[in-house]
Amino acid sequence: MRLRWCRQTQEEEESKNTGKGTVGAVALDASGNIAVATSTGGITNKKFGRVGDTPIIGGGTYANNQTCAVSCTGDGEFFIRLVTAYDVASLVQYKLVALGEACQAAVDKLTQLGGEGGLIAVDTKGNVELKFNCESMLRGWKNDRGEGSINIWPDGE
Ligand code: ASP
Repeated sequence: MRLRWCRQTQEEEESKNTGKGTVGAVALDASGNIAVATSTGGITNKKFGRVGDTPIIGGGTYANNQTCAVSCTGDGEFFIRLVTAYDVASLVQYKLVALGEACQAAVDKLTQLGGEGGLIAVDTKGNVELKFNCESMLRGWKNDRGEGSINIWPDGE
């Protein structure tokens, strides 16, 4: 799975390639191991020395074999404040909610604080979630049964 966060409009996306540079991946292997990787160049005009959410375990990146893997993209300061990736895993582990519900709750918290972005996640059963509150998020997933999809805009668009 991979993702890239985009704030620009469809017209901007089509006229020039100005997408953000964040790429995230989450995976569940045949042995039940869950992994996450997130890479980013940060945000445009960031302050020198800024550390975003991407390298902060629990902020923009988290994986645990007991629950799920989560990779975030978007306004990093919000993911840090909300400890978003760990929040999703905690909802799954302690509140026993489904991965989709946990991811939506995390995105709702992001929206309430005024942040934009999204996340991808996979759990121990191979459930996949790709949620965002921004206009678009480049994303894709595939499982061992050959099912999967690739999308940019919200589902159905
Ligand atoms: N989350 C990244 C950051 O704040 C940016 C991004 O995902 O595009 O550094």
